Amino acid sequence: MDQNVKLHTELLGKATVEALKKNCFQAEYLPDAASAKKRLLEMIPAGASVGFGGSATIKYLDIKEELAKRNCVCYDHNAAKDPEEAQEIRRKQLTCDIFLSGSNAVTRDGRLYNVDGRGNRVAAMIFGPREVIIVAGANKIVANLEEAEERVYGYAAPINNIRIGTDNPCVRIGHCMDCSTPKRICNVATIFHKCPVGMKTTVLVVGEALGY
Ligand code: SF4
Repeated sequence: MDQNVKLHTELLGKATVEALKKNCFQAEYLPDAASAKKRLLEMIPAGASVGFGGSATIKYLDIKEELAKRNCVCYDHNAAKDPEEAQEIRRKQLTCDIFLSGSNAVTRDGRLYNVDGRGNRVAAMIFGPREVIIVAGANKIVANLEEAEERVYGYAAPINNIRIGTDNPCVRIGHCMDCSTPKRICNVATIFHKCPVGMKTTVLVVGEALGY
């Protein structure tokens, strides 16, 4: 990465961490994906049940093998053998020890914006797991909620549709067409203005682009 870009990313990432802390989240800045992976693994104790919300960022960090070595139980609906098992796993994610997710956007004033198709990911981010850890690359940082919405519908959702192989209209045009298909992935939107009361929610802001 260009040194000037690196410095700017670090400044922006650290300022966003401070904004998240003001909003009662626990938050840390990690300079790159390798250090984020190391920190994430430090935060997950042996034997913990760990929920995976389907995040491309968490998948990229590739921690499941290491968790299996520590006798952790992984609830990953994308590894289910059929839709019924996937739904059961989504329910278990709601009461796991540690739920892992990315965030579609993080505003510079420390808010989280997420859009979900079924709602299971955002539900587990809000309440249920003993602890939630969110990993967000610096590419997710936006100025405000308007920009967060634009980021999701103009970029993240179309790319996620391509990633999971839907035939929703955004995969043909590259931005949202506010579809009404059964496979629409944008049915629930959540804004975390601050950390929910009683939840231990940590946001790891990473100084490189991760996920969509
Ligand atoms: S609402 Fe439909 S068209 Fe718009 S981004 Fe979501 S899936 Fe794509």
